Amino acid sequence: MILKDLGEFRLIDRIARHIKLSSRSIKGIGDDTAVLRYTEKKYLLFTCDMLIEGRHFLRTSGGYLIGKKSLSASISDIAAMGGEPRFFLVSLGVPASLNLKYVDCIYRGIRDVAKKFNVDLVGGDTVSSGNIIVNIALLGEVEKNKLVLRSGAKEGDEIFITGFIGGAAEGRHLTFSPRLKEARYLARNFKIHSMIDVSDGLVADLGHILGSSKLGAVIYERDIPISKSAKNFKSAIKEGEDFELVFTMSRGEGKRLTASWPFSTRLSKIGEVCRRRKGMSLVRKNGKKESMIPGGYTHF
Ligand code: ADP
Ligand code: MG
Repeated sequence: MILKDLGEFRLIDRIARHIKLSSRSIKGIGDDTAVLRYTEKKYLLFTCDMLIEGRHFLRTSGGYLIGKKSLSASISDIAAMGGEPRFFLVSLGVPASLNLKYVDCIYRGIRDVAKKFNVDLVGGDTVSSGNIIVNIALLGEVEKNKLVLRSGAKEGDEIFITGFIGGAAEGRHLTFSPRLKEARYLARNFKIHSMIDVSDGLVADLGHILGSSKLGAVIYERDIPISKSAKNFKSAIKEGEDFELVFTMSRGEGKRLTASWPFSTRLSKIGEVCRRRKGMSLVRKNGKKESMIPGGYTHF
């Protein structure tokens, strides 16, 4: 069998099956970040993301946006756990023929994001390679009582999403800003049952929440905020790299949240969590119900 037949998610499941953790690790493979034992009141969060030229960006996108995106994607994962990013390492693969200015731009992008979110670049690694590769490993922390996992959704929860989806193909995947302040507001002030950031597409990432929580859901086309630059509805809900937050909470908390949301970032209630055997379905604008298969962006 080749990787393409297995798919990215099943490959990760297969890796995870053979891993045994010590009691120092609270949560290993399977959420937006790992969750590790740390202090009496806090957990440590740990995540990495790799961007490869030709896959995630083109050289013509310019070093600045590539640098920005690499750190922003990892911050987005820390945000999805309810945490704060703190320290990161950068591993860089670059062709020997690359103009020095290009590398300067990558680091200017990284530094701008680091400054905005108050994270420290504390090291990394450099190798030569055919294509440009940027990998960021980011540590963060979260108060134990504010940690939000993918696995905590409950039947009857309302499902929310920040911002608009479907703009990635038009360049937003390079220019987005991680929803850290929104996530911290949510974690600090509300009982959020589950949360994820949208990197594989709304359907796949909501599917990750439902899979981990062993539940189903119904979402409504009329309530899903689609970016003006999206090609069409179907591609917008399946394409990845929106880096918006999808989260679930009780109806009561949902009401309190909609009444108090203080940000200009749009907040939309897009559906409800239901029993697993109902699966995941989409109610179209014409009222017809379609069953959804959570197969968003995967690398193979
Ligand atoms: P995200 O899109 O939130 O960054 P991924 O889909 O990349 O999450 O990863 C899902 C989970 O699988 C995470 O816990 C991640 O750490 C883990 N993971 C991904 N690739 C590997 C790998 N090659 N080896 C071990 N764990 C992996
Ligand atoms: Mg994620």
